[in-house]
Amino acid sequence: MTRRISIFGSTGSIGQNTVDLIARDPDAYDVVALTGGANIQLLAEQARSLNASLAVTAYDDRLEDLRSALTGTEIEVAAGAQALCDAADRPADWVMSAIVGAAGLYPGFAALRHGGALALANKESLVTAGPLLLAEAQKHSARILPVDSEHSAVFQALVGEDMDAVERIVITASGGPFRDWPLEAIAKATLAEAVAHPNWDMGQRISIDSASMFNKALELIETREFFRIDPDRIEAVVHPGSIVHALVGFKDGALMAHLGAPDMRHAIGYALHWPERRDLPVSRLDLAAIGTLSFEHPDETRFPALRLAREVMATGGRAGAVFNAAKEAALDAFISGQIGFLDMAAVVEATLESIDTEMSLSIPPQSLDCVAKVDHLARHTARNHAAARSH
Ligand code: NAD
Ligand code: MG
Repeated sequence: MTRRISIFGSTGSIGQNTVDLIARDPDAYDVVALTGGANIQLLAEQARSLNASLAVTAYDDRLEDLRSALTGTEIEVAAGAQALCDAADRPADWVMSAIVGAAGLYPGFAALRHGGALALANKESLVTAGPLLLAEAQKHSARILPVDSEHSAVFQALVGEDMDAVERIVITASGGPFRDWPLEAIAKATLAEAVAHPNWDMGQRISIDSASMFNKALELIETREFFRIDPDRIEAVVHPGSIVHALVGFKDGALMAHLGAPDMRHAIGYALHWPERRDLPVSRLDLAAIGTLSFEHPDETRFPALRLAREVMATGGRAGAVFNAAKEAALDAFISGQIGFLDMAAVVEATLESIDTEMSLSIPPQSLDCVAKVDHLARHTARNHAAARSH
C-alpha cells in the first residue's frame, strides 16, 4: 500500500534527508506536497524526481519562477503562507514538519486534522504552542512523532515503559564550536565561527543556535512539552562526541541510553517507519574505535540560554512563545551583523523581562491567534532591544 506523504521544508537540511529516504523506495510513497523557500531549483528538482502533486514556495514573488521550473509537468504550483496551510489541508498519512522557525507551526497544526502522523522536526511548534498542538493531535487521533535526535532517542528509550516509572530525562549537547572557549572569545565570535558545527551538518540557523546553546534551551522546553515531565527532572549534559543522544533514568536507577551515528536520517527514518524498525542507510558505530564517551556539566555563565530556558519552563504559559520569537529576532540581528554573539542572550532576557511587565506570561495561549500576537509583540520588542545594543 502506498502512503501519502507531504514534506514541509523539503529543501532544508532535514527536508533533504527526508527526500533521500523517500527516494530510495519511491513506489512505497505517493508524494502529495513539497514546500520550500527561495531555492526554487532544488524544490522543482525534488518535485520532479518524487513526482509530487503540488510544490509550494513560501515566497509569493517566486511563484512564476517555480511555475517555469516545472513547465512540462503536471505538478501544481502555489506560493505564500496561506498556500502552505492549504497544502497541509490536503490529506496525507505522514507529514514531515521541517520548516525552520515559528513559521512551521501553522502548516504542522493544519496537517494534524487528517489524523495521520506528524513527524515533528520543527521544535519551535512545541516551544511556542505545545499544549495547543498536543490537544489538536488528540482531538483528531493524530500522532506526533519527534524527529529532533534527542527526542527521538527518548521516545525510543520509552517504548514499552510507563511514564510513571521515569525519574529523569537527560538530553545531550555537543557543546558546539565554542564549548571550551573563554567568555571573552565567545563575545567576539563571528558568524562563520558560529556556523561551523563540529559534528552535525545542519541548516545555518540551528547551527548558530547550537553554538549559543539556544538550540539545547529550545530542546529542554521541547522535552518538557512533549513528554509532559516536570522541568526539574530534565537535564542537559555536554557530550562532545554526539554519540549518545539522550538517556532516560528510571526509578530503579537504570539509565537507558540511545547511541547512534550523528545522522538525522536515523530519527527521520524511525518516525517514517514507526512503529516498525527498518533498515536505514546510516553508518554503524564502531565502539572500540570511538574508545571513550565523555560528559561534562554545561556552563550556564558562558551559555546563558540554558538558564533562560529554566526560567521559561518555570513560568510556562506564553513564555515559550516569547522566548522563541525573541531568539529568532536576536538571531536575525546577529546574522545581519547588528549585534554580537552574546548580545543574543541579552536581547532575549531583556525581551522576557519587558513583556512580563506588560502581560502575565504564565497565562497559557488559548489559540494559535494568541500565539501569533505574542510572537509578533516579542519580535518587535526584541528588535528594539537589539537596536539599542547595535554596534
Ligand atoms: P534549514 O534552514 O536547512 O531548512 C528550512 C526549510 O524551511 C527550508 O526548506 C526553507 O525553505 C523553509 N523555510 C524557511 N523559512 C520559511 C518560512 N518563513 N516559511 C516557510 N518555509 C520556510 O533548516 P533545518 O536545519 O532543516 O531545520 C528545520 C527544522 O528542523 C528546524 O525547526 C530545526 O530546529 C529542526 N531540526 C533540525 C535538525 C538538523 O539536523 N538540521 C535537527 C533537529 C531539528
Ligand atoms: Mg536536537
